[in-house]
Amino acid sequence: MDEQSSSCNFHYEYIKNYYRLTSSQTNLHGHKVYNCPHCQRGFGSEELLNSHLDLGCLAVEGQSISLPKKGSTIQFENFNNKFKAPYVIYGDFESLNTKRETWSCKLSKEVKPEDKTKPYQKHIPCGYKILVVGDKKNVIAEHLYRGEDCMEMFVLKLNEFQQMIIDKLKVNVDINMTIQDNEAFKNAYKCYICDNVKGGFDYTSKCLCKVRDHDHSNGKYLGAAHSECNLKRNNKNVKIPVFFHNLKGYDAHHIISNAHLLGKKKY
Ligand SMILES: [Zn+2]
Ligand SMILES: [Zn+2]
Repeated sequence: MDEQSSSCNFHYEYIKNYYRLTSSQTNLHGHKVYNCPHCQRGFGSEELLNSHLDLGCLAVEGQSISLPKKGSTIQFENFNNKFKAPYVIYGDFESLNTKRETWSCKLSKEVKPEDKTKPYQKHIPCGYKILVVGDKKNVIAEHLYRGEDCMEMFVLKLNEFQQMIIDKLKVNVDINMTIQDNEAFKNAYKCYICDNVKGGFDYTSKCLCKVRDHDHSNGKYLGAAHSECNLKRNNKNVKIPVFFHNLKGYDAHHIISNAHLLGKKKY
């Protein structure tokens, strides 16, 4: 924009350099940024912007589709996910249906159309039960509670159980191999975790060499595995599934309305 044109009182202004205009408005570092004229995404160089336009800008082309190469295949790789979660939490809430004082529709003779959509009951949680179950269907801990403060108590207990499970997962009992286990390990030619999808055992490779996998909670030998598969199947990646009775339809409401009590921790 030159001085001559800026002094004129026109509705339109001539933009001499689009990238200079947009980069002065969008970045504070003073570098020239190449903004896409369609979606305004900024690029550090003209080449990057051109490759963005060649691929098809989302604002113009819609979603860009990239298909896999002809003949290529995909396969399941998260072998860690096929194992049972070591601990599961089950829960259920109970509520009281209380009348709302403000609603007087039933008492009045005249029912206005807007009255029909007024809430006349309030569901207040009054108790819950939580059950922590191990992978052998054994109940590790349970808690039944009734009271007005049941939601606060529920959050406290859930945190407590989470810590308890974390402490249990930290236990590492040394491997205890029987004669049969040693024999089975010696003869094993297949990784029991990936079924040799990654290839057979190979002692020259750091990832594919044969190692003994064991249950860290009791030291029991589980099977021969690739070193990489064995390392991935660790307790650091364990998630604790929590199942609630009718969560989608009902109980989620209580939890969401008290979600702020869950604190800074991530769940
Ligand atoms: Zn774009
Ligand atoms: Zn494997």
